[in-house]
Amino acid sequence: MGPSSRQAERHARQITIPEIGPEGQRKLARARVLVFGAGGLASAAIYYLACAGVGTIGVADDDRIELSNLNRQILHNPHRIGMLKVFSAQHTIMGFSPETHVVAYPRRVESVTEMVEVIKEFDAVIDCTDNFESRDLINESCILARKSWVYGAVSGFEGQVMTITPGRGPCYRCLYPSLPQSSDNSARAGVIGVSPGFIGVLQASEIIKHILGKGSLLVGRLLYADLLEMDFSELHVSKNPTCRYCGGHMSMEG
Ligand SMILES: [Zn+2]
Repeated sequence: MGPSSRQAERHARQITIPEIGPEGQRKLARARVLVFGAGGLASAAIYYLACAGVGTIGVADDDRIELSNLNRQILHNPHRIGMLKVFSAQHTIMGFSPETHVVAYPRRVESVTEMVEVIKEFDAVIDCTDNFESRDLINESCILARKSWVYGAVSGFEGQVMTITPGRGPCYRCLYPSLPQSSDNSARAGVIGVSPGFIGVLQASEIIKHILGKGSLLVGRLLYADLLEMDFSELHVSKNPTCRYCGGHMSMEG
């Protein structure tokens, strides 16, 4: 069986979905998605992007695997403690889906200029980081590179997700005009694996719809999920007139 017929068989059950079809499947195969982070959110997002047949997945992270990651980071395993997460992610996806091309960036991207250069190589971005500063950097870089990105965050049994499409909807700074202090970060807060698992899958789902050009994205809609109470709510987010990125363009793009 050749690579193309193997791929067709692998995705047979989704190619029959009218919103996908052979053309949609080709779009997914051609797509290049960049994921910032290789932890809990990324574990779910990357697995399901690979499942869907997204051809190229970039992963950027400079962290190494610790045992305490494994209550949620299902890309990794106990034999890889100390390994850089991006290489573990690459290894896992190679085994699961050999046709998926995983590009590893084993470093922290710290400047907007550098981030824009990396982002330009991709069609869309998923934020699977765990802090406000990284998301702010992703937000600004995606606005400059004019790429859509999906924001996700989790804590405890809760999570939230929103899709940002520059020029169309509000951005991360419209949602958080002033960034919370680093001490408020959830980086070290408690979390159970189902929360990043659930939110990461929603992030992958948003990206897949974006690639296909089908369905309704969470643009201007912050979806909030409380898995403990099984309560889902949606907050309407508008472009903030005082946003440093969106404010001046309200009349043109609002
Ligand atoms: Zn904004």
